[in-house]
This record gives sequence, C-alpha cells and structure tokens, in this order.
Amino acid sequence: MDGDTPRRGAGVKTMTPSRLAAPSLALLGLAGPSGAEPKYDLLLKGGHVIDPRNGTDAPRDVAVAGGRVAAVEARIDPALAFKTVDVSGLYVTPGLVDIHVHVYAGTGERDSYAGDNSVYPDGFTFRSGVTTVADAGCAGWRNFEDFKQRVIDRSRTRVLAFLNIVGHGMRGGPWEQDLADMAARPTAVMALRHPGLVVGIKTAHYEGPDWMPVERAVEAGTEAKVPVMVDFGANRSERPLAELVTRKLRPGDIYTHVHSGLRDEQTGAGAVAPALFEARKRGVIFDVGHGGGSFAFRVAVPAIREGFLPDSISTDLHISSMNAGMKDMLNVMGKYLAMGVPLPEVVRRSTWNPARQVGHEELGHLSVGAPADVAVLRRETGRFGFVDSFGGRLRGTERLACELTLRDGKVVYDLNGLARPDWDTLPPDYRKTGDPRWDAYGR
Ligand SMILES: [Zn+2]
Repeated sequence: MDGDTPRRGAGVKTMTPSRLAAPSLALLGLAGPSGAEPKYDLLLKGGHVIDPRNGTDAPRDVAVAGGRVAAVEARIDPALAFKTVDVSGLYVTPGLVDIHVHVYAGTGERDSYAGDNSVYPDGFTFRSGVTTVADAGCAGWRNFEDFKQRVIDRSRTRVLAFLNIVGHGMRGGPWEQDLADMAARPTAVMALRHPGLVVGIKTAHYEGPDWMPVERAVEAGTEAKVPVMVDFGANRSERPLAELVTRKLRPGDIYTHVHSGLRDEQTGAGAVAPALFEARKRGVIFDVGHGGGSFAFRVAVPAIREGFLPDSISTDLHISSMNAGMKDMLNVMGKYLAMGVPLPEVVRRSTWNPARQVGHEELGHLSVGAPADVAVLRRETGRFGFVDSFGGRLRGTERLACELTLRDGKVVYDLNGLARPDWDTLPPDYRKTGDPRWDAYGR
C-alpha cells in the first residue's frame, strides 16, 4: 500500500505516519475476495469537528466511503479504513461554500467579468478549503452555456451560478446598463434548463435610477423558483436601500456587499441601518461579498459589535480582490475571527448557511450520507494583519490555514502531505503513490 497498510482483518492500528511498506494490493488489482474489504475508504482521525448544521463542536473521527460521509464518531477504528490520515490538532469542517465569486475566465474579453477579470476556480478554491463556489452573475442567458462548457463542466471545484438578469452578463459598462437586455422570461427559461446549477438570479452594477433591473431579476427568480442576489450598483435616492430590502426583495433573496458602506448600510452615526434589521426579520439574507471595493472595517466592526452578523461570508473572488485585501476565503473568515466572531459561527456562515441559501442542502455539513466535501483547517496564532478593501488594517492574533481538502471523499489538496508517505520509506524506484479510492491526484 502506499503508506497505508490496507487494514484488512487484524491490521495495523497505529496512527504513526510511517505505515508504508507493501505495495498497494488494490492498485495492483490483487485485492482478492478473501480479505474483507475495509468498510471505509478514508478516515480522518483525531480532529476537532465543527459542523454547525449538526451542532457538532467536538473531537470526532470522520470516515468516508463511496465519496460520502459514512460515519462521524468519537472514535472510529482505523482497522475499518483503507486509508487513515492523522488530523489531530486540526479542525475538520464541511468543505467551504463561497457563494460570490467570478470565474467566467477564458473568453479573452478585456476588462470584463465574462473574461479577463475572472479567474479559473481550481487555482483558488481547494487550497483555501473551498469545495463549492457560486459564480455571481458573470454570465446571462445569452452566454451561460458558453460559461458552462468553458469553465463549469471542466472544473474540479463544484461550480454553481447566479445568472445575470442582463442577457450578456457582466461584460462591462454598456451591456450592464442596457435595460433592453434585462428580460425575465429568457433568463428564467435558462435557469429552469439547468436546475441545481443555476441557483439564483443576479442583478449588479446598475447605475441608473430605475427599479427595473431588480424587478426583472425578482420576476425571473419567481418564475424559476430561485433567489435573487443584488449588488445594488450606484447609490441612488430614487431607489433607496431601505426600500430594496424591506419591500422589493423576497424572503430568501440576498443582499451582497453588506459591509461595503457604499449604499447606506450604515446610518450617519455609524449604526446598522434599521432597514437591515427589519429586512432580516422578513427573511432577506445578507452576504459579505468582500471583493476589491466592498468590505470596510469601519462598517463591519461596528455592525458586529451591534450584533448584526452577515448570514454568509463570501469572497467576491476576481483578479484584483485576490491580491488586495480580500486574498481568499480563509483570510476573509480570519477577519471575522479578528472581529470577535467565534469560530463555529464563522464556519456556519461559510458552510451550512450559504449552502442553504443556494438551495443545496446536501452540502455544507457532515451528516452521514452527505457528499464528503471536507476542509481540514489549522488555527494559527501569532501577529497577523487583515486589510479591508480600502486599505484599512485590523490586527489579529489568529488566522486559519488549509491543511487538507476533500471533494467527494478524495484528497484534492494536501499542504503538508498529511496523507502522504515519507519518500525514503517507499521502494527505491517508486513512481506513484496514492490510490484512487481516496486520492484525486496521485496517478
Ligand atoms: Zn461580485
């Protein structure tokens, strides 16, 4: 085996990292019917599970079989697992769900989120513990299928999408201000053609005084039975935020960029706008959408102090936010830790809450039977700094780092080789390690 003695029968139970030796019988196709097959493909042993959906915040072993969570228990015998990974000292959470990213890359269009402003997801997700993203409206009904074949279908990351109410999507100024291209019917038709993949309708970047973009988006969302996500564009007195969240949006609709301070989310005195509390009572959802220009500590810190936490933490990942203050999902989560939000609440807003918001209740938790999307995180202590979208810094003493990520039960990222054998314990001419039962890349 490749570092993991197949624990058939009276197998090895040690958790030490050097249990290597024999070549993989499974790999050689020799796993005979004589030895009972291990019950589990992969066992994460000794970690501290935080699974807010199930109210778990305790030491637990997590076993995976057939790409799904098979058991979460105080102690699971390694003899039952084909492969065991020691994750002691680490947190084990559901794979992170980031519902605001921009990943329609590859079209070659300049200065466009349906092009050069987007990034390919796999380079930014697994290394941050993210297993599911939702693109926030890069494509509309006219170019969604191009987006799908170009990026969604080719990504290892689970990519969902909000469909832009603009038929041409997020291609920039002229397109995104064109009211004539904001049609509810074809948008809803495209959403209904891809149920579960198109998880919502997006309206964004609109600068005019009209309510029409919001109204058309809600119309499409109503017809397709999906939520609407709003980036409210320019702040216009003709269409105030208070009216948007207390009247125009439906329960389950999502207001993103909640800590931007760009559209009266805060009163002049620095308090959370009363309309936000009223809207929350109605069931309107508030999302972070950090991005390159939409997160300010001067808004977020007092809001948290006032007890107004965002429902979902998301990055608004794109080519400039990733190297500016936002950086990645774990950095944004670290900001909430630094603002005093307890880790389980940060995890809830990065897993179960967003999964539910986009109608994927099978994701964002570690219930037995759920897809085994898992993040193994290290909580580091030290002297750290977090930077907002406007260059303000908040100092902190904790941050999160991703050690290991599983997508559908397979290791897709392993920073320090927790799942790997030491090279000098392998055969002198070793060429490959790993096993398709647990390893997405070792082949
Ligand atoms: Zn965005």
